Amino acid sequence: MKLSARADVAVVGAGIVGLGAAYAAVRRGLRVVVVDRTASPVGSTVRNFGHLCIGMQTGQARRYGDIARELWLRLARDAGFWLRESGTLVAAMRDDELAVLETAARGGSPDVRMLDADELRRRAPLRAGAVVGGALIAPDLQVNPREAAAAIIRHLAARGVEFHFRTAVTAIRPGGITTTRGTVDAGSVVVAVNHDIDQLLPEVAERADVQRCALDMMRVAGDLPAALEAPLLTGWSLVRYGRFSGLPETAALRDRLHAERPDLAALDLNQMYTQLPDGSLILGDSHARAVQPGPFQPEGAFEAFLDQALALFDARRFRVIERWQGVYASARDEFLLEQPDDGVVVIAATTGIGMTCGLGLAETALSTHLQEAPA
Ligand SMILES: Cc1cc2nc3c(=O)[nH]c(=O)nc-3n(C[C@H](O)[C@H](O)[C@H](O)COP(=O)(O)OP(=O)(O)OC[C@H]3O[C@@H](n4cnc5c(N)ncnc54)[C@H](O)[C@@H]3O)c2cc1C
Repeated sequence: MKLSARADVAVVGAGIVGLGAAYAAVRRGLRVVVVDRTASPVGSTVRNFGHLCIGMQTGQARRYGDIARELWLRLARDAGFWLRESGTLVAAMRDDELAVLETAARGGSPDVRMLDADELRRRAPLRAGAVVGGALIAPDLQVNPREAAAAIIRHLAARGVEFHFRTAVTAIRPGGITTTRGTVDAGSVVVAVNHDIDQLLPEVAERADVQRCALDMMRVAGDLPAALEAPLLTGWSLVRYGRFSGLPETAALRDRLHAERPDLAALDLNQMYTQLPDGSLILGDSHARAVQPGPFQPEGAFEAFLDQALALFDARRFRVIERWQGVYASARDEFLLEQPDDGVVVIAATTGIGMTCGLGLAETALSTHLQEAPA
């Protein structure tokens, strides 16, 4: 069928960032059309951990994360998908990891609550002796990334948002978009295509230095004696996330981890876990950045994930259910927010925190854009 639509806002991309823009627009009473080239979301938004790590962020990411937190809670209720206010558990396997957590907790912020080893092991089925303690990062949430986007799409469609899947956008212009099926005329265009911005608007991608980050991921089943109550991070996570990465103690931790395990450092490992409602565990992840990372996933990464998981969890074995590669946009800054033309807004999370911050980024970008638009 030939597409010839008219809208107040045309959104390109039906991942969490595009859906966030559509949600922001429809809540303001605007007529919204969303176009995506795939048949249903299969990008980063379904390939991730479902870990909304708000309390791990600082600065702009934290501001977007706080906005996103409220929107996630509201959407989960209204669209009817699984979300838990679990917080995040951080397992400290060594004293230097505990020291980083203690420094973060000392500021008096209610976000970081220290746990002793017993308390941590009551919340996570960890091997006896594997941890010296840990922390709970209170504001964090967890969703099931495999169902959240589809539920949001159903909810937005019921509120009148028009979706066109299997429809690739080939050109963006002030006043609308051109697609493989026809055109959408719109006063505002929001481009939310993640790393593929270099295919649609190469000059925007080049200005922001956008490339791709490819990640190896796997899902396993194991003979765990209890449930994992929240997403679980480790020392390898502390050296990455804004809340911890800049602390004085973290530099020494990074040096120790890299000296002891250059193999894991070479994978750019973030050793972390989330448990899905069916009891399976998502294990990950490695990171490889390039304009076009290779499609071949080194088995060494998966072996490392399994070895690390077996050393930490109280399980005799894990059975691999699935492996996959995820890709997200990576750039100098954490976010891309540009207006390359009148009425055109480009937004992306340009590091691996789009589930945490994407709804907040989209809400902020849309509200700023609408206020700036001439009456
Ligand atoms: C393995 C992995 C683990 C992660 N873990 C976490 C995590 O735990 N917590 C967290 O906060 N973040 C995490 N992230 C990051 C997060 O998933 C992403 O930042 C976020 O999902 C990006 O959302 P998006 O809407 O920009 O992109 P996507 O979900 O990739 O959506 C972009 C959409 O644009 C469409 N598109 C592209 N080009 C066109 C075109 N020309 N025409 C039409 N449609 C087009 C695509 O088909 C796609 O559906 C992870 C990412 C990965 C890959």
